[in-house]
Amino acid sequence: MKRLDDLSQLATRETADDIDARRLRYVFNLSTIVGGLVLIFFAFRQLGSEDHRLQLVLIAAAAGVWATFLYVRTTQQVVIGVRIASALVALLSLALVYTGGLENTGLYWVFPLLFIQFIYLGALPGLVVSTLILTATGTLLVNSDAIPASYSYAEMSRAMAALLTLMILAAISEFYRQRSQVDLSTRHTDQVIEAVTDPLTGLTNRRFLDGFFYPECRRQESSHFPLAVITCDIDNFKAINDKHGHQRGDEVLVQVSTLLRESLRGSDVVSRVGGEEFLIMAQRAKRKSAADIAEKLRQRIENLEIEGLPEGISASFGVVVADHYSELKAALLNADQNLYRAKNEGRNRVVADQ
Ligand code: GH3
Ligand code: MG
Ligand code: MG
Repeated sequence: MKRLDDLSQLATRETADDIDARRLRYVFNLSTIVGGLVLIFFAFRQLGSEDHRLQLVLIAAAAGVWATFLYVRTTQQVVIGVRIASALVALLSLALVYTGGLENTGLYWVFPLLFIQFIYLGALPGLVVSTLILTATGTLLVNSDAIPASYSYAEMSRAMAALLTLMILAAISEFYRQRSQVDLSTRHTDQVIEAVTDPLTGLTNRRFLDGFFYPECRRQESSHFPLAVITCDIDNFKAINDKHGHQRGDEVLVQVSTLLRESLRGSDVVSRVGGEEFLIMAQRAKRKSAADIAEKLRQRIENLEIEGLPEGISASFGVVVADHYSELKAALLNADQNLYRAKNEGRNRVVADQ
């Protein structure tokens, strides 16, 4: 079924959340691999020095981020991995402030490391964690006499002010990035729902079947099949329109749609696939019960009381049961043929494959 396959992309299309999850995975992979390499580079530059504390810190941090990378690769737990990496980056920031890093330049590296917290955690958790880091950094700097690093007063005060500014800017920027992403995602979902809904009756339309239902049938064959395919077409609808007007015709369509929906299980799918044509998919139905369902619907439509339409209405049905997804295309064609037969045999009847 060419059309189903083409449109199945619609159903598997990524949502904004998926895109964000992928963004996080990319950022995580890149930052842990590259970050580890940078750390090792600095650890080697430190080789000649007497003080091995910084070297140990750098190597431990590199080992930590690479281990986290491997953990995520094997478990696919990106969110946990990101939290571990965030903690490692926070510890590294403080270690750099404490030791002074290479030639007392440790403070400079706190800037990008603080920014990474926002990329990893998002606006609010990023703000909380970076506030904690800044508080700890401030505490270390206030007690700068007690730490190995030696910074000038001007250096320390400017670094704190600049870090605070960076933190506020990063929080605002991340907040609006997230919000616009949620807006886009909501708008996207609304548009998809609108596209697959028939505005007159509120039933799903053919686009829903092609884009969502059929692909779902293929993916989850056992929970859908045997699938009863029931086509339903209101009899002599043109005459109803001609006699009572288009508006009354629309009311009939709405009433029939409500009847169909209320008569079927929630898991069954009712779609309006043409002017006065409906396609019903009853999941996990047996042959006999498929015909029974159609017969029940036929009787209910026949007994439907419609204001201003004393003669009432009727509908014809074609029924086929598909046992597997591979039979679905043929089932849809055969159900149409059965409906055609029902029309030819006098309308207001059900024709089902035995
Ligand atoms: P049959 O018993 O063979 O199905 O005859 P029919 O008159 O129902 O079928 P036909 O295909 O000749 O006519 C269908 C009519 O449905 C023609 C069209 O004007 C009408 N129709 C299609 N869409 C709508 C709609 O949205 N509202 C209304 N009121 N009428 C519609
Ligand atoms: Mg008709
Ligand atoms: Mg028709």
